[in-house]
Amino acid sequence: MRAPGCRCPGPGGDRVNVPAPEHRRLRIGDTWRDATGGATFTVEDPATGKTIAEVADAGVADGLAALAAASEAMPRWAATPPRKRSEMLTATYRALTERSEDVARLITLEMGKPLAEARAEVAYGAEFFRWFAEEAVRVEGRYSTAPAGGYRILTVPKPVGPCVFVTPWNFPLAMGARKIAPALAAGCTTITKPASQTPLTMLFLARIMEEVGVPPGVVNVVPTTRAGAVVSALLADNRTRKLSFTGSTEVGRVLLRQAADNVLRTSMELGGNAALIVCADADLDVAVDGAMVAKMRNIGESCVAANRIYVEEPVREEFTARFAERMAALSVGHGLDDGVDVGALIDENAVSRIAELVADAVDRGARVVVGGERPAGPGHFYPPTVLVDVPDGALMLGAEIFGPVAPIISFTSDDDVLRRANDTEHGLVGYVFTRDLRRALRFAEGLDTGMVGINRGLISDPSAPFGGVKQSGIGKEGSHEGILEYLDLTYAAIDLP
Ligand code: NAP
Repeated sequence: MRAPGCRCPGPGGDRVNVPAPEHRRLRIGDTWRDATGGATFTVEDPATGKTIAEVADAGVADGLAALAAASEAMPRWAATPPRKRSEMLTATYRALTERSEDVARLITLEMGKPLAEARAEVAYGAEFFRWFAEEAVRVEGRYSTAPAGGYRILTVPKPVGPCVFVTPWNFPLAMGARKIAPALAAGCTTITKPASQTPLTMLFLARIMEEVGVPPGVVNVVPTTRAGAVVSALLADNRTRKLSFTGSTEVGRVLLRQAADNVLRTSMELGGNAALIVCADADLDVAVDGAMVAKMRNIGESCVAANRIYVEEPVREEFTARFAERMAALSVGHGLDDGVDVGALIDENAVSRIAELVADAVDRGARVVVGGERPAGPGHFYPPTVLVDVPDGALMLGAEIFGPVAPIISFTSDDDVLRRANDTEHGLVGYVFTRDLRRALRFAEGLDTGMVGINRGLISDPSAPFGGVKQSGIGKEGSHEGILEYLDLTYAAIDLP
């Protein structure tokens, strides 16, 4: 089965199934509709700067119409038998898997990542629907005797209510799937505001979910260029019961303040600044492979990207030489072209920010061993770059680099590297490479992060609880914990002597 759409030419004769004009509008209730006043905005291919499509640009009234649809659909969806909800999630998983190539090409076109990475994102995103189809039928309460006797305690999980989702551009499918799948499994209805740079993938998902029979009002999608106004109106309306946000810590703080007014349930998946620690006793083949994945997955535009690579002094030279050789061998180009490992970054701001971080590190004494020069020509490209001798004060060690730049820093003591790794407001993930189990566990316990990769550079998995501590976030996505974010618990005391 193919989603309807026009076939737009891509580079090298590739073609991409861009949603048809009627499905580039707002998905509200049972309609695909224009924005109030007919406003639209353009979506660009970051590899060429060319316009891909015009998309309806929601205003506040459209956002509130989506909330009205979600509120109206809420009682019936909550009362739909879990098995039936589960079957719709399974059907979504199947449809996404069947159309994986179309979805992947669309992701690459609007976001820039290489096609192989986009295919991996579709597999990852689809898996949340399969996982939460299985969780939907395992939501349970408890019945017990009060310790003092005399009455019984009954707990009943209930869906929290209509949810507002705000998602980033770096995983246009998966960041929405991680929210929509558990919400629907729990019996909640949803309004998603995708990133304005990558709205097409989320509209494509909404179309798929309409086709598999998810009822009107359960999945609403409102792309907009007026995120601040639309989202704050949604959060100020007391029909909204939950906010789940994935994006920068900076915007997360703003939304948490707004969510406080109506005391909303919140889940926050925010920024990271991951340290990756390579000990002298590590298997260097494993460490280099792990560092490549942790740094270069998604072109480094990932919250879990290795931002600082600490290598113990005795293996620093060998690790650096091997890692640099792998980075230098990566090919840069349009994500839809064959053999490309590193696609375009999202926009000009991202490229100039990274160039500034590299220039700052070099000014402070760092040395570039690979890359470091912006290529000429169209598109937002930055080459894989490796820096050594990066001093502690360099800005890139304190900020999310969010690109293909790897600073390597030497260490000589476990206590010292742990202190430096934890010296950040973020606490999303850390990585440790060592053959010594006790050392690995000491690092795993000592890192102030929600997740740790031990001899692995890839930790994202729909069946594991993803989430950060400190200013990297609140709550978990995926795993059994993921559905609990969408459930309230009512407790009943039952008199029974
Ligand atoms: P962002 O600038 O915070 O934007 C994220 C979303 O928030 C977008 O949809 C954006 O809309 C919207 N937004 C921006 N300002 C807003 C406001 N005042 N009110 C309401 N919504 C607003 O982040 P990004 O640049 O898209 O994504 C990169 C960030 O996401 C990084 O910090 C990364 O670490 C983080 N991230 C975290 C996770 C995780 O699981 N922890 C996963 C992926 C990404 P517009 O597109 O219209 O600006």
